Amino acid sequence: MSEQPIDQTIFAKIIRGDLPSEKVFEDDQFVAIKDIEPLAPEHILLLPKEPIRDISQVNSEHREMLGAMLLRAVEIARDKGLEKGGYRLSLNCGDDAGLMVPYLHMHIMGGKKLGPPA
Ligand code: 5GP
Repeated sequence: MSEQPIDQTIFAKIIRGDLPSEKVFEDDQFVAIKDIEPLAPEHILLLPKEPIRDISQVNSEHREMLGAMLLRAVEIARDKGLEKGGYRLSLNCGDDAGLMVPYLHMHIMGGKKLGPPA
């Protein structure tokens, strides 16, 4: 089976505005949306507007974007009041990690005591 073109993924469509989402942040580089099936009281997905399939596809040209992505995630967690209790940032890559949407996204989860990462 051929791989779905990245511009046809759910997150590419959400970024373009072709599919609805509950946005919590947007600038010229990133969109952050509420996860449709939250695993925690706060479960946000941070998406770079530059289309990248997953973290295994990045190279040194993405250094600045990746730094900005991590900082943005920390700022969103802070804005959501997650610093006191703590939170989790995670990226899934490939089948063994359970990647469902092949468009790079970082999970920001908090608001309760989280279980083990897996
Ligand atoms: P992963 O690919 O890292 O396993 O996770 C994909 C995440 O995207 C899941 O937590 C899932 O609930 C979420 N998700 C899947 N489809 C949609 C959607 O259409 N809208 C939103 N907001 N989240 C989605």
